[in-house]
Amino acid sequence: MAEKGFNAYHMAQTQFDNVAEKLEMDQAVRALLREPLREYHFLIPVRMDDGAFRIFKGFRVQHNDARGPCKGGIRFHPQETADTVRALAMWMTWKCAVADIPLGGGKGGVICDPHDLSMREQEALCRGWVRQIYLNVGPVQDVPAPDVMTSGQHMLWMLDEYERLSGGKYPGFITGKPVGMGGSLGRTEATGYGVIYHTREALKDIEMDISKTTAAVQGFGNVAQYLIELYNQYGGKVRSVSCWDQQEKKAFTFIKKEGVNLPMLRGITDRFGSINRTKAKDLGYEITAGEEWIDQNVDILFPAALENSITGTNVESISKQVKLIAEGANGPTTPEADTVINGRKITLIPDFLANAGGVTCSYFEQVQSNMNYFWSRDEVLGKLDEKMTMAFHAVLDLSKHRDVPLRESAYMIAISRVAEACHMRGWV
Ligand code: NAD
Repeated sequence: MAEKGFNAYHMAQTQFDNVAEKLEMDQAVRALLREPLREYHFLIPVRMDDGAFRIFKGFRVQHNDARGPCKGGIRFHPQETADTVRALAMWMTWKCAVADIPLGGGKGGVICDPHDLSMREQEALCRGWVRQIYLNVGPVQDVPAPDVMTSGQHMLWMLDEYERLSGGKYPGFITGKPVGMGGSLGRTEATGYGVIYHTREALKDIEMDISKTTAAVQGFGNVAQYLIELYNQYGGKVRSVSCWDQQEKKAFTFIKKEGVNLPMLRGITDRFGSINRTKAKDLGYEITAGEEWIDQNVDILFPAALENSITGTNVESISKQVKLIAEGANGPTTPEADTVINGRKITLIPDFLANAGGVTCSYFEQVQSNMNYFWSRDEVLGKLDEKMTMAFHAVLDLSKHRDVPLRESAYMIAISRVAEACHMRGWV
């Protein structure tokens, strides 16, 4: 699905350069912020179940920590590249800054396909990742979290390895831990719910009643399922979801005009977010090609699967009915597609604002872990709603003030805050 020659890091740098130019930022700050401060590449040998060794490639990129310890997920993905991790680390810096939490930006990854690994092999990979990097990560340096194809179980194995090596208990080392083991209530749903808090505020601004809107969702993993859950609670109707089919090695779209039934779809979905097609057909879903998620006649599009999904090639197929796009995934829209979307006056809530609920709740988890005192789910989600609503309105106000799209005003706010922290520390 990647456009020929597409490079997420180049895209992130181009976005940064454009904003730096508009902010008339000095050259030293630009040079400091357009690349990661530090990055680590390492090999992880794992003894496989058949007794043979396999060598995996791991990464950790720390883009900037002027506002606090780096924060960012660890992805397990067969097509992982150093440049993808760099781009995602940079977006984490902006995300923490736009959400106004005291953290910097990092990201990690391993080139692997967990579908092909047993649980024991995945555990060995998690422990191996920590062994290679533990001196350079930790509660006051860089705090990892789950991301694509990693879960609370992976985080716990990593925490256990970190604590073995460090000789103490450091629940604030990692977030996304299972509840009862240092995890926060509300963390599982935080990213998806956060997307909907922003969506609710954006719809108010364009004077649309959320309970009368319809949507199409790309993805059916963690982010997608919880955004659908809260969107449904507000009365919104999801007409289609699309997801990856691991056996067929391609994506499919599952359509139900009267609205998908979330609990039923969840019941026929595996742990990687792939929906069983035979069972879906029996439940009356129309099943079409994965790419068709984008041309549904709905009010809202939620790209919540992978980067590089709305491109110059498919942007024209977005229906005239679409008034809002809320980017649950990281980097789903290319700059070329962005131009078309802005030209059509579709409101677009940019990724690092729309999906900042996850990192904000991770920050809450860190605070709770460090205090060893845990809040109720309502308290966590209440604080999350407040933080997301404030972040959204700051971005909306600047966007109106400067007459620029939300992506641009969100970048302006985030980059200015990070640049200011670098200045105040005397770095540049
Ligand atoms: P996940 O692994 O739980 O789910 C991914 C989903 O995408 C699965 O349903 C999979 O079938 C689907 N998918 C994969 N390729 C597809 C394709 N070509 N077409 C359609 N569907 C496809 O991952 P997630 O945690 O939900 O993350 C999704 C996105 O959100 C990623 O970009 C991630 O970086 C971003 N994100 C996640 C979090 C979080 O807290 N989980 C936070 C911020 C951002």
